[in-house]
Amino acid sequence: MAFIELKNVSKRYGKRLAVVDFTLHIDEGERVVLLGPSGCGKTTVLRLMAGLMAPYSGSIYLYGELASTDGKVLMQPESRHIGMVFQDLALWPHLTVKGNLEFVLKAKGVPRSERERRISEMLSLVSMEEFAYVKPTRLSGGQQQRVALARALISHPRILLMDEPLSNLDFELNLRLRRQIIRLQNRIGFTLIYVTHDREEAYDIGTRIVIMRNGRIAMVGSADDAEAYFSRLYSEIDDA
Ligand code: ADP
Ligand code: MG
Repeated sequence: MAFIELKNVSKRYGKRLAVVDFTLHIDEGERVVLLGPSGCGKTTVLRLMAGLMAPYSGSIYLYGELASTDGKVLMQPESRHIGMVFQDLALWPHLTVKGNLEFVLKAKGVPRSERERRISEMLSLVSMEEFAYVKPTRLSGGQQQRVALARALISHPRILLMDEPLSNLDFELNLRLRRQIIRLQNRIGFTLIYVTHDREEAYDIGTRIVIMRNGRIAMVGSADDAEAYFSRLYSEIDDA
């Protein structure tokens, strides 16, 4: 049984095909990176996995169970044990850092003492303990990023989806947060699906790279395989 399985998944927006015949198995504990240029369908694949929309055709299985198929979402997003971090973070500006995390736990009906415990644990994991009572707008980009990560992980998701989460940050900070994401993933053991258009970032984070072009999978393999794919591609372009 595959942990995550996409079988011939296609998605269209009106007449436009955004994802075409996408087939991929992901094992528990992998860090899979979807790598490709803007518009190639990366975000659409994440939204399909999260159950935020249904595939036009094809099926998605989670934990061995049929989650979405042929225009239907069968397993609702809130039942998928999936956490999400998007580029625009979407932290709640009127709540403190702690409030942002607490909101998630309250919505899940986690009792107060348990909430307190999990919030401190998570803030310490992302080294943000001293910012518990600060509002997100007063934080730097990197700090906001860590809060978004903490908020996504506090409900103990089995799968974390990250959509170009570090694209807006300067290089130094980007590097530091990559290390933090990898460290957290090693420590907690969630399965990571990470989207980027940056090759170097992809190779650093991914235990497996999926190169996408025009809504399709162009290559699946290691960072070395991906590099070989790109050198072949560029030598073909040079030859032409
Ligand atoms: P990526 O994340 O790789 O940039 P997307 O998944 O966002 O790609 O988009 C894939 C294709 O689908 C693009 O051509 C995009 O313009 C189109 N698209 C994405 N979202 C919508 C939408 N809500 N309505 C219409 N077209 C969309
Ligand atoms: Mg996108």
